[in-house]
Amino acid sequence: MEYRNYENVNSAVKETYRKARINQTLEFNKNIRREYENRNKILIDIIDALNKLNNFIDKSDPDIELPNIQHLFQSAEASRNDNQPEWFQLICLLHDLGKIMYMFGSDSTGTSIKEQWAIVGDTFIVGCKIPNTIVYSEYNSLNSDHNKYDEMGIYTKNCGLDNCIVSWGHDEFLYRTLLNNKHSLPEEALYIVRYHSLYLWHDKNEYIQFENKKDIKMKYWVKLFNKYDLYSKENKKVNIEEIKGYYLNLYMKYFHNRKLCI
Ligand code: FE
Ligand code: FE
Repeated sequence: MEYRNYENVNSAVKETYRKARINQTLEFNKNIRREYENRNKILIDIIDALNKLNNFIDKSDPDIELPNIQHLFQSAEASRNDNQPEWFQLICLLHDLGKIMYMFGSDSTGTSIKEQWAIVGDTFIVGCKIPNTIVYSEYNSLNSDHNKYDEMGIYTKNCGLDNCIVSWGHDEFLYRTLLNNKHSLPEEALYIVRYHSLYLWHDKNEYIQFENKKDIKMKYWVKLFNKYDLYSKENKKVNIEEIKGYYLNLYMKYFHNRKLCI
C-alpha cells in the first residue's frame, strides 16, 4: 500500500488543509496558546480518554477511515512486535491522544469534530515562509505569514525548534498536556509527540536553518516513530479488549495514576 497520497482523496482532506493554510498564522497561534493556558483542565481516566477517540475520524488522513483509537492501538502493537523499548510502545499508543481537544473545541477555531483544521494534518512553522515541499503547496499563498516573511521570518539562525511556533494541532496539545502531568517518559518521547506531524522537518529536510544540536539528535527518533505511525495503518481492526490490560500496565509504569489532567 502507498501512504500519504494526497491526489484523488476525498474533498474533506483537501478542504481541511486549505482552511489550515488560511487560518494558521502567528497571530492565531498566539491566541490559541493563550486560550489553552487559561482553560480549566479536567481529570479523565486514561481509558476513557482513549475511548473519546472512538468518535473521532481524522479528516486530514487519506489512509485510514477507522476511528482514531484503532490507529493508536495498531501503531503500538506494531512497535511492540518489533520489540521497541517500553516508553516507545507507550508513546505509539498515546501519540494522537491530543485529538481529544475536540471535547473543548469550537468550529471557529478549527478544533471541533466538524472543523478540524487546528487539530489534524501536517504542521508547519508560523511566522516565516512555508516551504513549497508541503502538501498542497498551492495553498501557501493564502497564508498571510507566508506572504509577509522570508525563510528566517521572526526567528534566528539555529534557534532550535523549541523556540519556533509550530501550527497548532494535536501534537502541541498533547505535548503541553504531558508537561502538565507527572510521568517518567524520556525527552525523546516528548519530542516525538511534539513534532510527529512536522513532516516538513523530519521527512522533507526543511527548517534546517532553525535546527540546533538537540533537534538533530532527536530527529532519529521522530523518523523511527513515523514508521509506526504510517505503516501500521490498515483498515483492519485490532481487538482492543484483548490487549488493553498490557497497555494499561505499561501506562501505569510511567504515570502511576490512571487520571490524566487534560
Ligand atoms: Fe498524529
Ligand atoms: Fe498518528
